[in-house]
Amino acid sequence: MPIASINPFTGDTIEEFAPHDPGEVENRIAQAAGAAAILRFSTTFEQRAQWMHASADILNDESEAAARTLTLEMGKPIRQARDEVSKCVRAMHFYAEHAEAFLSGESLDDAEPVGAAQAWTVWQPLGVVLAVMPWNLPLWQVIRFAAPALMAGNTGLLKHASNVPQSALYLDELFDKGGFPAGSFRTLLIGSARVSSVITDARVKAVTLTGSEPAGRSVASTAANEVKKAVLELGGSDPFIVMPSADLDAASTTAVRSRMTNNAQSCIAAKRFIVHTDVYDEFVGSFVDKMRSLVVGDPMDESTDVGPLATAAGHDDLSALVDDAVAKGATTLLGGAAVDGPGWFFPPTVLADLTDDMRIVQEETFGPVASLYRLTDREEATRVANQTTFGLSSAVWTLDSSEQDWFITTLDAGMVFLNGMSRSYPELPFGGIKNSGYGRELSSSGIREFCNQKTVWKA
Ligand code: NAP
Repeated sequence: MPIASINPFTGDTIEEFAPHDPGEVENRIAQAAGAAAILRFSTTFEQRAQWMHASADILNDESEAAARTLTLEMGKPIRQARDEVSKCVRAMHFYAEHAEAFLSGESLDDAEPVGAAQAWTVWQPLGVVLAVMPWNLPLWQVIRFAAPALMAGNTGLLKHASNVPQSALYLDELFDKGGFPAGSFRTLLIGSARVSSVITDARVKAVTLTGSEPAGRSVASTAANEVKKAVLELGGSDPFIVMPSADLDAASTTAVRSRMTNNAQSCIAAKRFIVHTDVYDEFVGSFVDKMRSLVVGDPMDESTDVGPLATAAGHDDLSALVDDAVAKGATTLLGGAAVDGPGWFFPPTVLADLTDDMRIVQEETFGPVASLYRLTDREEATRVANQTTFGLSSAVWTLDSSEQDWFITTLDAGMVFLNGMSRSYPELPFGGIKNSGYGRELSSSGIREFCNQKTVWKA
């Protein structure tokens, strides 16, 4: 795949970038390794926090240009691109403020049982961490790794998705401009076939990947062979469960937002809507009406709700999933057929009457397609929710507290949002189970993933 910015709204190539040759990759790994030694041994949390705050301020000052780059490279509506940039700025300030407390270690109150006068733990950085990242949130996916990693005293190498090189190169400079030692964060312009050679480099201590399941399997197996730490944030097919006590108007509004934000290309988007039969018709009527009213069009237009899909391949994959379901008997309540170009548009689509032989029941729909399921009780809701191999997030709409407890207990997911939609926040741990991956990002959990928890025993 070429490393190129291609405008998904027109299909036009904006700019192609030559991949870094082996010498340049070596140079960049060496820079990251050099900076790792400086960050670990010669800087304090206070110093790094100053640089992180300064980097956040620069991003804030440049937010309009950064947002336009996101929209140009992957087609998200400009208003949502601005939200993405603001979220990054907030997370950077958050880690600048909280990293030291998150990594303060613990003291054993009573060390006598372990035969010590004192015993405690300290958290120390691992060194250079490789981040393999996707295009769907080109800044946010990277910042939520980079902010905690740099605050912990690690350095980062970024292998970004090949279709967002301008975002990748912007990030290459951001932390330098904020004052971090040169090399603290470096972009590698390389294709996916060269990722394993970076993981196996002895100077690289760990890897994090956000992306698809096949990419995750490949990266994790290389890391395992090297006995290096890996964190995987993979796909999802999140359930959105609606029970009879729910506020149906709020639920359907939130359901549309959760399915369609980011042109419906989010790992934690609600993808399967599992609705109790008592409220099915009312919820579905309202949901379909609200899906129909979305404004589809030029993502640079302020009034656009939904832009094109980011890549031609993603567009073709989604069309094939929908065609398969329709051919096997699914009912199309809205949309359904791919739109001819220019631009990789797919219309907001709602499918019902799904059967287990359809691919869409198991596979992730990374685009504006909602699947509906009718259920009769909470046991069936859980069974349908848990029937995919994914386990990222989930949303449940019910005012009944015993039902809330039931779903918290029974859903196979890394996250449960009650009467709301799945979102990521710097304050909350983020991650999945099953084939959605392992490890956690954000909060105190995320910053500790790439640290050595060192135990100290003192006689
Ligand atoms: P992708 O094809 O897996 O690409 C993600 C990154 O992995 C890109 O940088 C890609 O490089 C690289 N890559 C692909 N195959 C690889 C391999 N065999 N070895 C090493 N690196 C490889 O995923 P995508 O289509 O860009 O993103 C969509 C997927 O990401 C969806 O499944 C979505 O759910 C998931 N996602 C998960 C989260 C989460 O937090 N759980 C968040 C966002 C997205 P190239 O671009 O050069 O191929």
